[in-house]
Amino acid sequence: METKACVLHSEKDLRIENAPLAEVGDDQVLVRIGAGGICGSDLHYYLDGGFGVVRVKEPIILGHEVAGTVEAIGAKVTKVKPGDRIALNPSRPCGKCKFCQSGEQQHCLDMWFYGSAMRFPHSQGAFRERIVAYDFQCEPVGEAVSLGEAACCEPLSVALHAVQQPGSLTGKRVLVTGSGPIGALVIAAARYAGALEVVATDLHDAALKKAVEMGATRTVNVAQAPGLAAGEFTADKGYFDVVLECTGAGGVIKSALPALKPRGALVQVGTAGEVPIPIDAIVGKEIRIMGSSRFHLEYPLAARLIKEGRINVKPIITATVPFERAVEAFQMASDRKAHMKVQLTF
Ligand SMILES: [Zn+2]
Ligand SMILES: [Zn+2]
Repeated sequence: METKACVLHSEKDLRIENAPLAEVGDDQVLVRIGAGGICGSDLHYYLDGGFGVVRVKEPIILGHEVAGTVEAIGAKVTKVKPGDRIALNPSRPCGKCKFCQSGEQQHCLDMWFYGSAMRFPHSQGAFRERIVAYDFQCEPVGEAVSLGEAACCEPLSVALHAVQQPGSLTGKRVLVTGSGPIGALVIAAARYAGALEVVATDLHDAALKKAVEMGATRTVNVAQAPGLAAGEFTADKGYFDVVLECTGAGGVIKSALPALKPRGALVQVGTAGEVPIPIDAIVGKEIRIMGSSRFHLEYPLAARLIKEGRINVKPIITATVPFERAVEAFQMASDRKAHMKVQLTF
């Protein structure tokens, strides 16, 4: 059996072609993919052939933010049945390594993650019409939400994981730097987690408008008013309890520190490569710096929050394009000013 898939051969060489479709095993399901969101990592693979040391070395099916409908199930599957609409968790930790065994599956030593060139042979992705997946990857989302919304489960999981890093956000003042798709979902997750105020920054007004729709209580366009470096947010040793940094830009990280209160937390969500940071400011104010990577338990939580309409992800979906026009969709997704989340339909 075969299925149509979006296969990246090398930088900017994305083709729709047939890919093999495995037999459905006892604990597996056949899923007809309905929607798939283009993520920053997909874009890096497409535009640059990878990021950092991670390079595309063989044809790879992109895509990890997907949802679809179960078409068939293996003999031992009880979690879902044919016809169920599901969000498909792209993450398959091994379950056996020391990190999986200690409940830190996001650090699995033998992780299979859809559409990732981190390992070789590459872990093939889910931008395809049909896929055979394991039952434990499926999270039913009911009938009330679109598969496009369900496909936002993965980035929402990333956001829900990030807001847990600094401890309780209840009653806290939170700054979210960068209101792209992840920033927007981090805003929603911070509100869900009980943040009193969520101030969002970005360079573009369109993104800030979305930030408000996602729950930001105030916005600052840092292109017009460079900084937080002056004014109320930096007076008296800072305003915010927590900064959730989603840009990965060195200058932004640096400019956020004066706005952080002593003993506040800087959660780094965006990847930044290597950037200089003012250590003395961190020492002087006893700032806690922490990273956030991927998710595990947050995926079923994200599915439930979307399913029940408790977090509305619709504002971030700015375009929906049939997968046959994937190249056009990837070009749209690279225009940060015009788009947040571009999704493919299958
Ligand atoms: Zn993603
Ligand atoms: Zn593991």
